[in-house]
Amino acid sequence: MREEFRLLIALQDLDIMIREAREQHTSDQYRDMGFKLTGLEELQEARKKLAAKIPTALRNRYEKLAAHFKLAIIPVTGDKCLGCFVKLPTSFFSSAYSSELLTCESCGRLLYIP
Ligand SMILES: [Zn+2]
Repeated sequence: MREEFRLLIALQDLDIMIREAREQHTSDQYRDMGFKLTGLEELQEARKKLAAKIPTALRNRYEKLAAHFKLAIIPVTGDKCLGCFVKLPTSFFSSAYSSELLTCESCGRLLYIP
């Protein structure tokens, strides 16, 4: 797998963690229970550093998708996009594409072959 994909997936993981940390911060339920939640700033700092390593064009594509979808980059397993469950064209699975970052024509999510 190409380094860029790996970085992008790591960025997505961080975004999920940041989202969860934020939700917990704003949840009265957790506060009332006496949960002390820290680490949000550390996560954001780590995200900034990671994002700087990703080529701008790719990062922009990801950011745009991430604004719409919970998961912007997803692995292809089987013959369907796991984002929208539309069958992918067989050309996706030819070896020529296996090292490329693909786009689902139906939902626009980024797909990679693990
Ligand atoms: Zn899709």
